[in-house]
Amino acid sequence: MKRFLFFVMIVTALTLSGCETLEGTAGSGFFNQINLLSTQQEVSLGQQFSVQIEESEKVLNHPAIQNYVSEIGKKLIAVAPRQDVPYSFKVIDAPDTVNAFALPGGYMYIYTGLLKTCSNEAELAAVMAHEIGHVAARHHGEMMTRQMGMEMVTDMVLGKKPGMVASLAGQLFTAGVSARYSRAQEREADSLGMEILYRAGYPPQGMISFMSKLMEADRRQGGGRSMPIFATHPSPEERVALLQELLQRYPATPQHNANYGEDRYRQAILSQL
Ligand SMILES: [Zn+2]
Repeated sequence: MKRFLFFVMIVTALTLSGCETLEGTAGSGFFNQINLLSTQQEVSLGQQFSVQIEESEKVLNHPAIQNYVSEIGKKLIAVAPRQDVPYSFKVIDAPDTVNAFALPGGYMYIYTGLLKTCSNEAELAAVMAHEIGHVAARHHGEMMTRQMGMEMVTDMVLGKKPGMVASLAGQLFTAGVSARYSRAQEREADSLGMEILYRAGYPPQGMISFMSKLMEADRRQGGGRSMPIFATHPSPEERVALLQELLQRYPATPQHNANYGEDRYRQAILSQL
């Protein structure tokens, strides 16, 4: 076991030192293949983080909204490329926070501020599909080992660093986790997310209309990009351009276009919040 850990640490050191220079180049594809955490380790970490999140944030006490959001999540994970994690979906009661994030292992949290920003079900599904994309591509393991090293992450998995878990839950996740992902990871999550959205029967255009809406809301607030969801490496403009490109791959059928779910969304969410 010791020898194995030592080996893992060397690999980590090599990966960490190579990461900075290779990120964003053709070589980053190679590093995207490496995930130093097993599924079991990811789930264990995610569970620990979720306890922290639910202690510091207020889970919305509205079963109908929680169910509605979970049902959307189930449709998306049914067509997601990763099936070995216990996905779950919870709404956090924070009307001024436009944010959503997933923990390692697929525990997803969506803030009521983000729910209010969406104007139909397809836009909410788009945000959720992007987060499922991060989970499916195992970005959490890559991101965490890159940020803090394998030894620390392994100690956290083993429950040796409860204080660390507590402080990281806020830093890494609620405060705009996307800032911690690399540019290549954000692109991959957008690409996987659009595929998941399309396969679940939602119009892929929902992903673009949501981004455009965020940009517009931000402009109205003076353009400070204060929303945590904007803490991404690719700028929103850059993401929209990439999504427009991706859209060519997913030509919406009339069934997709009839499935924005505007009325459903108004009834289930907008009239309730
Ligand atoms: Zn992201």
